[in-house]
Amino acid sequence: MSNSGNSLMRSLPAIDELLRLADGQRLCAAHGREFVTSVLREVAGAAREALSEQGAAALARVDAGALLAAAEQRLQSLTAPSLRPVFNLTGTVLHTNLGRAPLPQAAIDAMTAVAGGASNLEFDLASGTRGDRDSHVEDWICRLTGAEAATVVNNNAAAVLLLLNTLALRREVVVSRGELVEIGGAFRVPDVMARAGAKLVEVGTTNRTHPADFDDAITPRTALLMKVHTSNYAIHGFTAAVPETVLAATARAHDLPFVVDLGSGTLIDLSRYGLPHEPTVAEAIAAGADLVTFSGDKLLGGPQAGIIAGRGTLIRRIKRNPMKRALRVDKLTLAALGAVLRLYAEPARAVRELPTLRLLTRPASEIDAQATRLLPALAAALGDAAAVSIVDCASQIGSGALPVDLLMSRALRIAPRGGRGKVLERLAGAFRQLPVPVVGRIADGALLFDLRCLDDEAGFAAQLAQLRWSAAG
Ligand SMILES: *Cc1c(COP(=O)(O)O)cnc(C)c1O
Repeated sequence: MSNSGNSLMRSLPAIDELLRLADGQRLCAAHGREFVTSVLREVAGAAREALSEQGAAALARVDAGALLAAAEQRLQSLTAPSLRPVFNLTGTVLHTNLGRAPLPQAAIDAMTAVAGGASNLEFDLASGTRGDRDSHVEDWICRLTGAEAATVVNNNAAAVLLLLNTLALRREVVVSRGELVEIGGAFRVPDVMARAGAKLVEVGTTNRTHPADFDDAITPRTALLMKVHTSNYAIHGFTAAVPETVLAATARAHDLPFVVDLGSGTLIDLSRYGLPHEPTVAEAIAAGADLVTFSGDKLLGGPQAGIIAGRGTLIRRIKRNPMKRALRVDKLTLAALGAVLRLYAEPARAVRELPTLRLLTRPASEIDAQATRLLPALAAALGDAAAVSIVDCASQIGSGALPVDLLMSRALRIAPRGGRGKVLERLAGAFRQLPVPVVGRIADGALLFDLRCLDDEAGFAAQLAQLRWSAAG
């Protein structure tokens, strides 16, 4: 390094010196001396780099005041929770990246009740002996689906993996070519099958599969017949699929289990509440499925979980698989799931109290009234830089459920006037910088806020004054 470079480095205050200053003392009182010291070292390291790259131009950024301010900012961001609430105004109700189903108060209360202390998670209070964690939800799953038995794992992908690994290890699983689903990147039926140690036998074609295709594929190596609900796409036109009742009969004739991966699955017939019909777990079981797998946090409206329901003999084998231990759920999930299942005792109550079902069945007129109330505050926050209007839009259910069915909704549409550069991206970014970040979607040269999922209207309106954005950039 040159002499001038060395003298620049000497202008960097020493860490000890920074800690002795009033601001340094204040940070130590709030965060502890060790933590502050480590952050100051990080900040000083960055300053040293800036000096060696930019020389004297960086001097203003490396004095004691600037270093302590940078440290304070870094301390704040390190101590703030990383996972935090956002407003989901994307129009996708079950948004996987935004945490899928919001939980009802009953589930939050149930989790809180057991979170802070010991519980009877695997302890039978009647006998005082070891219990089974599934027992907290199994009876309710059976009541609501007609299944004999059930078990719960981390998510539906885990449910499918565990089922296949238990019943089809080193054997063959027959699936229609029309149902080799990929769900959001990481879950693909053929890949899960391979990881489970089962051999996939594809039958039929993309658009048509017939009963004889299954009959012809069954060999002594066949472990089971499987149907995968094509949750996130639909095949239209010249199509044929084998009904569940026929597949169940074929499986029975060969003494094989018939399993259905329902994906979302629902516990009640949503068409009774103005939503499109999605197959229910009870329907699949009544049609002859020996096992059904489905998600806890899709249309069910509960916590992330995967449920396997069906025949007692098969469920017992699945629970004995050592992989169950690796895929099991914790007490918080079971507490929340139990509370959600109990709401289904009265379906009308489930629709009222489960946020997912309530949001999905929200009338467009109510959303429109909310848009009308919010428009002036939003327009005021944006000033002349953007035009705000109310437009019709279509929400979607999301997470692969009911892929072709859209729900009429209303959105606040923000169209920047003029503006430079990536003005829409910057606008969306400014809304994400709010204390409770707002996530919308960009469409047709505007930022859209679909209000279907806006519960906390007052909270949304109250933070608009803090929006920092200008079209000029
Ligand atoms: C969503 C889905 C899965 C995966 O469920 P997760 O709960 O997200 O793990 C598996 N199969 C089907 C058909 C699905 O729709």
